[in-house]
Amino acid sequence: MRPDPRLGAAVLAGKLAATASRGLGRGGGTTIPGDVALAIDPGVLAKLGAALPRGSVLVSGTNGKTTTTGLVAAALEASGERVLTNASGANLVFGLVAAAVAQARPLGGARADRAVFEVDELSLERAVLELRPRLVVVLNLLRDQLDRSGELETTARRIGDGLRRLPRGAHVVANADDPLVVAQCEGVEGVVYVGIDADDQLLDGVPHAADARTCPRCGAPLHFDRVVLAHCGSYRCTRCDFARPRPAVAVRRITAASLDRQRLELDDGTVLDAAVGGIYNAYNLVAAHAAATTLGVPAATVAAAVAGFRPRFGRMERLRLHDRELRLLLAKNPAGLDVVLRTADELGATHNYLIAINDLVADGRDVSWLWDVDFERLARSSHRPHVVASGRRAHDLALRLKYAGMAAEQVTVEPDPAAALRVLASRAAPGEEAVVVPTYTAMLELRAVAQRAGAVGAFWEQRG
Ligand SMILES: [Zn+2]
Repeated sequence: MRPDPRLGAAVLAGKLAATASRGLGRGGGTTIPGDVALAIDPGVLAKLGAALPRGSVLVSGTNGKTTTTGLVAAALEASGERVLTNASGANLVFGLVAAAVAQARPLGGARADRAVFEVDELSLERAVLELRPRLVVVLNLLRDQLDRSGELETTARRIGDGLRRLPRGAHVVANADDPLVVAQCEGVEGVVYVGIDADDQLLDGVPHAADARTCPRCGAPLHFDRVVLAHCGSYRCTRCDFARPRPAVAVRRITAASLDRQRLELDDGTVLDAAVGGIYNAYNLVAAHAAATTLGVPAATVAAAVAGFRPRFGRMERLRLHDRELRLLLAKNPAGLDVVLRTADELGATHNYLIAINDLVADGRDVSWLWDVDFERLARSSHRPHVVASGRRAHDLALRLKYAGMAAEQVTVEPDPAAALRVLASRAAPGEEAVVVPTYTAMLELRAVAQRAGAVGAFWEQRG
């Protein structure tokens, strides 16, 4: 490539900023280098992206970005590519720039063949314009606890704006089961729909937390024949011809389902044996499979990469503390918490939970989203579970659990994370696995507590 002094300066300054912020202990400095590099060369992301011989893949949607990005990257690496990714989960434009700068050669050349980035929904359009990706994955559009009331439609439109800006020849892997995603793909070329046709883990109806009960095109009620999770399933409009498109890649059957394992049989005969459980991960898996095969990775290579894939910190991991087995399941929004509780109840037959709700900025300040979570399911569970309600908003959670129908003896309120972990351990029997469900900052606190209690290193390793 021709020397570009401004790009070289931006990359160098970004690298220095990364080193400096690591020295200051700023959590690895995941976005500061992006700020610095962009200030010197606003075109830094476009230039670094253009230097990648195989271009970029972007993964967006409310839930599952990190896992799906990891799966796609693993499949591409298994096919021999060198892959650049924002593994830290910094998924705004500054985070993408920081990741690109970190791997770039000092003058701006590329070390990787391709980038696979998870991208925040509201940043997708800008990322598309800068990176000109060859493929975009859109997983789902669920309400986040940060954007209640009506903002989901805005987010959906922003995704659509991004998709309509894709370069000619680009592909979109989109979730056919999510009517909000499908509505944004109308008129977009190169869409490969994925979905779940398996009837192994269906819901009785559209849950309370679901956002899309009406047709995104005409506003009439949607009719659901099957509900897989939230508002995702098989649907059709009761007035116009809007309906779930037939998926090009579908999960036909789900077997061997447990909390940390499942086997997906796809309708093309592919079998994916994964070390991630839960129906939400089935969506991530089929989307990653479709993305990788669309990019030319052989199905057998994808299957091998999936088999070796382990989820990242906080998504689905185990620790041993106070001589008890604990499973940590991060929940960031109502739909996420719903599906985590459902998975723990149905696949884990869980008796003891610790649910920790914080209201810091990273969690969402407004905890009224707790009223959108289907705690009634937990109250009805035949396992008659006990919940330690913890975190800064432990009392709000306890009130919500009471209204859901949980008896007083099924709930213990303990806001302090260390004390809450002790209560959980004292209630669980030896050998029993208890489930810990924190919001983001509560997860960081619980992790710190566990480290202080000696549960470092091996105790936090992910189970293979
Ligand atoms: Zn309609």
